[in-house]
Amino acid sequence: MQSKVQIKEIFESIQGEGPCVGINQLFIRFSKCNLNCNYCDTDFRNDLKEYSVDELIEEVNRHNNIHSISLTGGEPLCDTDFLYEFLQKTNKKIYLETNGTLYEQLSLIIQYIDIVSMDIKLPSMSNGFDHFFAHEQFIKIAKNTKEIFAKVVFDTNITDDEILKTAELAQKYNILLVLQPKMDGNNLNLSTEFINEVYYKFVSIYDYVRLIPQVHKFLNVR
Ligand code: SF4
Repeated sequence: MQSKVQIKEIFESIQGEGPCVGINQLFIRFSKCNLNCNYCDTDFRNDLKEYSVDELIEEVNRHNNIHSISLTGGEPLCDTDFLYEFLQKTNKKIYLETNGTLYEQLSLIIQYIDIVSMDIKLPSMSNGFDHFFAHEQFIKIAKNTKEIFAKVVFDTNITDDEILKTAELAQKYNILLVLQPKMDGNNLNLSTEFINEVYYKFVSIYDYVRLIPQVHKFLNVR
């Protein structure tokens, strides 16, 4: 029997995060997640729509002028069985936005992914949980795709130990780190001084780092 999945929303917009900022994508927002981050603003319960693989393919094929499909969430890898079927049936470029913890699930579909945009979740942003072991296993598998980078959302609770562990992990696998100051809604409430201080602490350990805020919030697009 064909898999079905609950989708929160599907829409075209401009990618507003990371080094691919500015490209036009079709966003497919999945509705489950395995984590519980302090700053999560995703509503996983209301206004969900069920799709079969063929129904989602039909929807995707209505969008022609896109750079790629962004699988986002929630955590898309919570629906790996569905993705495995879906990804075999589309030839569009695939950009996976993931919290970077479900490495076993990633290994099942990595062959279909073009760009991996993973998070490194700091304990200070994820209710004290340390995900560094899972992140490292994830990176080992994600390195097999064409492009990978890791986003680090931070606020004033970030610690020197978190900076050191994150920078050393990225350095070990030579991946780009994207520092993303946490926004409150559409407002950036962290001071420029503090953001600079965090940036230079990272760069003093590992210099393949970019500081990129959530651009779509400044543009006021989704
Ligand atoms: S990983 Fe993303 S979707 Fe899941 S709880 Fe954290 S912020 Fe929310």
